[in-house]
Amino acid sequence: MSFLQPQALQGILNVTVESLAGHCGLSNDQSNHDIEDSIRVARLKQQLGILQSRPRAASDKIYYEFAANHLPALMNTYRQKSTAANFAMTMLNVVSHTAYFIRFQRSVAGSDLASLLASRIANAEADPDVEVIGEMCQFLSTLFVLQGATSVNEADRAKLVPKLRRWNRAYTGYLASDTSERCLGALTGDFMFQQMSRSIKTMLEQPLDQCGANCNRRVRSNASELLQCSRCKTAVYCGVPHQKQAWATHKALCFPPTF
Ligand SMILES: [Zn+2]
Ligand SMILES: [Zn+2]
Repeated sequence: MSFLQPQALQGILNVTVESLAGHCGLSNDQSNHDIEDSIRVARLKQQLGILQSRPRAASDKIYYEFAANHLPALMNTYRQKSTAANFAMTMLNVVSHTAYFIRFQRSVAGSDLASLLASRIANAEADPDVEVIGEMCQFLSTLFVLQGATSVNEADRAKLVPKLRRWNRAYTGYLASDTSERCLGALTGDFMFQQMSRSIKTMLEQPLDQCGANCNRRVRSNASELLQCSRCKTAVYCGVPHQKQAWATHKALCFPPTF
């Protein structure tokens, strides 16, 4: 049995925006650039596991800042890969609930993510591990909620549907079964799924479309567009009073985005 040196252990426990960027090959530190993908994903998942055990507010602060800083570069990294699941997909998936991701996937740079991931899953020759299937189908189902499944072309759809049906049957009791079923629901236009999908979409998009002080307004009282937070460009308000009121909580997740 081998034990980690205290210094290495400290390195794993210290999860920061910079350490996550390093594991994704996005930092300027050159020593971080020649690492094999399998090692990257293992180190990244180790750090994400630590984050998951922290209070939601603490982990979200890191996810939000990471997304604000790194989404375009992370998306480029994902494009350069040929696999469906890799460290870049893992990181995109864990920040997919942030307002920055919601805004990014609406932009040209991220608008084809659902069809790109669907195509990679459809055309992969071998099945990955059941955990990885669960993770990639989870991300695909989120993307289908946000972007719809209509952008998946017929050839990809014809390969993807039987694959998802097979996973759904084979992995009962695992995340892979539930998440492949959600993807199938989107691809086949299942009514129950459409209903559920609409409410999840509204919830995910709420920070960009509704006043951040929870007054539920989608327009200002004079019917003009909501005011946007000039710093993060991802929070909106019905007016200055509600912007001021929400600042105490919003400031923890307000970062100037690089996109
Ligand atoms: Zn802001
Ligand atoms: Zn308001």
